[in-house]
Amino acid sequence: MPVRSQRGILDRLQAGVVLGAEGYVFELERRGYIKAGPYVPEVVLDFPDAVCELHREFLRAGADVMVALTYYAHREKLKTVGRENDLEALNRQALRLANEVAREGDALVAGDICNTWAYDPKNKVASSRVVRAMYEEQLSWAVDEGIDFVIAETNDYLGESLIALQVIKELGLPAMVTLASTRPHQTWDGYDYVDACKILADQGADIVGLNCDRGPATMLPIIERVRSRVSTYVAAQPVPYKTDPAMPTFESLKTASGARAFPIALEPFLCTRFEMAAYAERARELGVNYIGICCGGSPHYVRAMAEALGRTVPASRYSPAIELHPMIGAHVEEKEKEFLVDWKG
Ligand SMILES: [Zn+2]
Repeated sequence: MPVRSQRGILDRLQAGVVLGAEGYVFELERRGYIKAGPYVPEVVLDFPDAVCELHREFLRAGADVMVALTYYAHREKLKTVGRENDLEALNRQALRLANEVAREGDALVAGDICNTWAYDPKNKVASSRVVRAMYEEQLSWAVDEGIDFVIAETNDYLGESLIALQVIKELGLPAMVTLASTRPHQTWDGYDYVDACKILADQGADIVGLNCDRGPATMLPIIERVRSRVSTYVAAQPVPYKTDPAMPTFESLKTASGARAFPIALEPFLCTRFEMAAYAERARELGVNYIGICCGGSPHYVRAMAEALGRTVPASRYSPAIELHPMIGAHVEEKEKEFLVDWKG
């Protein structure tokens, strides 16, 4: 097992906010390396340099954690694209890539597991066995390749997330378990999101919270309630989209003409970097310990969030200097700016 970072996730959370960065699958889809629909991270084997590049960009933008791209790299999903035989190779390679780039900075490596689509509360005993075997398999490779902690994410069912938590704890690793929040108030097995986080915390999860589905505006109110209910560390990893009470998740976003925007026509709803910076500040005020971003995330958001948290990161070297812009910079007269950019037609 490779030598891991000297300061683990719990030490870092004890010292202050940890900045996370995810959204690998969405971003690599946009870059042409992953197929939208199945969203299986075949890129890990087919274009490993593309994965390293994105890790590196997140690292330069200030991410404290390199999340191994094993999201949806489980048996069920690989079957759907006919690559079940590549399962172990894909998992191991994803972990090696994350480790390789983490060592270029001072980042931690997280093993990553997620909802399996195999869990069935109506057939709990048998399906739990299948899910557990999938998690054990993926995490045995992760431990072998070297990780600092595990993120179990986008859990639709509390029941499934508890299996993940158990497997992580049996390995003696810190566990971050975050729920999906596609429904108004409850997990798919009927637990209020806040109660579900409390149960996970009581069962020994080190970090609990939500990731994906909701933008900052509709995720933070739930996170605020989670914060007041648990004494463990809290994580928020929203998607950078302008969700609102009427359309609280990115799956529910509709354009003016009523078309569903999810998952590949979401651009009109993207937050600006300033909105994501404001989210990071607000999350810190609320006492969120692990502040991140999920699907739709990209390096410029992470840098803006890092800087909002008071950090100067490698990519800050190229942070905006709009005062030097040829058309709207400090040297351009107001009258001229009006003519050039406040165009009246
Ligand atoms: Zn996501």
